Amino acid sequence: MKTENTVWHPQQITKQQRAQQKGQRPCLLWYTGLSGSGKSTIANAVDDLLFERGYHSYLLDGDNVRHGLNGDLSFTDQDRVENIRRISEVGKLFVDAGLIVSTAFISPFASDRALAAEKIGEAEFIEVFIDTPIEVCEQRDPKGLYKKARAGEIKHFTGIDSDYDVPANPAIHVKTAEADIKQCAEQVLSFLAERGFISSTKAV
Ligand code: ADP
Repeated sequence: MKTENTVWHPQQITKQQRAQQKGQRPCLLWYTGLSGSGKSTIANAVDDLLFERGYHSYLLDGDNVRHGLNGDLSFTDQDRVENIRRISEVGKLFVDAGLIVSTAFISPFASDRALAAEKIGEAEFIEVFIDTPIEVCEQRDPKGLYKKARAGEIKHFTGIDSDYDVPANPAIHVKTAEADIKQCAEQVLSFLAERGFISSTKAV
């Protein structure tokens, strides 16, 4: 709980210095999309490409975070909001550390994504819509969750009996049914280079 005795310690090394040391501009890639759309897969592929090229990145993945930091949260509306709030806060700290951060969560509600954007700051928040038709997600069903949801074993499943707000104006729109994983990851890298978050010339 924050009290009046909680003081924010100014840090000596600035975010700009940390970014400069790493030869990149920090940002947060916020992947959103249905379960099985490919958020984790593409975020991991992007992370690999960044690592290979010598950039400094970190991936906060939905399932991993739910096992640790957010292990106490359920899937009620209230806990989903808290889930996103904590992820945004942690993401912001990692951006402060000069990193290119990725978060891979369904994040179905536009209002939650707007809160995250506000927390991070529009200039460093990059919404990545992993756009995959639900029929394709259901066919892939990498975790067997659609099968369970159709059988009524999982309630409030996004796309089946819980809504997904399609991003109105995502910074990056990735259509995974039309391109392979590598092409999708390269689309994200190209965006980062075009916007100057990474250099297009940094040697591997
Ligand atoms: P999410 O994180 O959105 O729940 P996952 O990344 O766990 O989704 O699962 C996506 C599945 O779709 C993986 O099994 C992946 O190999 C497969 N897949 C097939 N084609 C693509 C593509 N172009 N982009 C991303 N994933 C793809």
